[in-house]
Amino acid sequence: MFKDLFQKKKYATVPSASVHDDRPKREIPEGLMNKCPKCGTIQYHKELEKNLKVCSHCGHHLRLNALERIEMTLDEGRFFEYDTDIVSEDPLGFPDYMKKLKQQQAKSGLDEAVITGEGTIGGFPVVVAVMSFNFFTGSMGSVVGEKITRAIETAMQKQYPLIIFSTSGGARMQESILSLMQMAKTSAALAKLHEAGGLYISVFTDPTTGGVSASFGMLGDINLAEPGALVGFAGRIVIEQTIRQKLPDEFQTAEFNMKHGQIDLVVPRKDMRQTLIKLIELHTVKGDVTHGG
Ligand SMILES: [Zn+2]
Repeated sequence: MFKDLFQKKKYATVPSASVHDDRPKREIPEGLMNKCPKCGTIQYHKELEKNLKVCSHCGHHLRLNALERIEMTLDEGRFFEYDTDIVSEDPLGFPDYMKKLKQQQAKSGLDEAVITGEGTIGGFPVVVAVMSFNFFTGSMGSVVGEKITRAIETAMQKQYPLIIFSTSGGARMQESILSLMQMAKTSAALAKLHEAGGLYISVFTDPTTGGVSASFGMLGDINLAEPGALVGFAGRIVIEQTIRQKLPDEFQTAEFNMKHGQIDLVVPRKDMRQTLIKLIELHTVKGDVTHGG
C-alpha cells in the first residue's frame, strides 16, 4: 500500500525540464502568457503589459524594444521618426553580413538597432533615440552612430532636450573600425551640444555594454538607469582574468554604478516618464530648455 501511494505521488510530480525528457513540452500559446526570465513566474501577457513589462512577482524589468519604449515614454500619438532611409553597406565584405542584417530586420520588424525622432513628453518637445537589443544585440555600426549623431545635431539646432535610451552588446564587429569610429563621432557631437548649452539625459537599460556605454551612454548631463540593468564596458570574465581578482556579485548593476558615482539615479520603469518630465521642467526657463551646469 505504501508502495502504491509512493508511486501515485511520483506519478503526480510535474516533470522537471531535462535534456533527457523528449516528451513534447507543453506549449504556452504565443502572446498569451509570459515567463519572467529572472524568477520564472508565469504571467498573463496582458497583465505584464499593464505593468509596463515589469514582473509583478520579483520586480524584474523585462527588455523592451524601441517601439514599446517610445509608446511608454512619449505623449500619445506624438512621434515623428527621423532618418528611416539610412542603411548599412558592407564595406569590409564581411561574410554573410548582409544576409544576417536582413534576417535581423525580418525577425525584429526594425530597420536598425536604433530609432530616432522627435515627439513631446508632458508637452515638452524632445529629440529621442531608442535602441533595441533584439536587433543584432543592439550593436553599434555606422548606421546606429550616424542616426544618433544626427539626432544630437537636430536637438542642438532645435534647442530641444535630448533623451537617449541605450541598450547594446557593444560595437558591431562586422563593421570593425567603422563601428569603433562611431564612439568618437557621437562623443564629438555631444561635446558640441554641451557647448551650446543643450540638455542630454542618458537612460541605461539592460544591458548596455562596450562601445555604447563607453561613448554616448556615459556622457549624459544626467545619467539614469532602470533597476537591475547591467551597465559596464568589458564583461566580468574578461576583467577578472585581467586583474586576477574576484569581482563583487552586484558588480556592473545599475545600483552598483549609482553607489560608485557612474549613474545619478536608478528609476523604476513606472516612474521613468514622470522623472524625465520633472528633469526637463527643472531645466526649462521661460520656455527655453537650457543646460543646468
Ligand atoms: Zn520575476
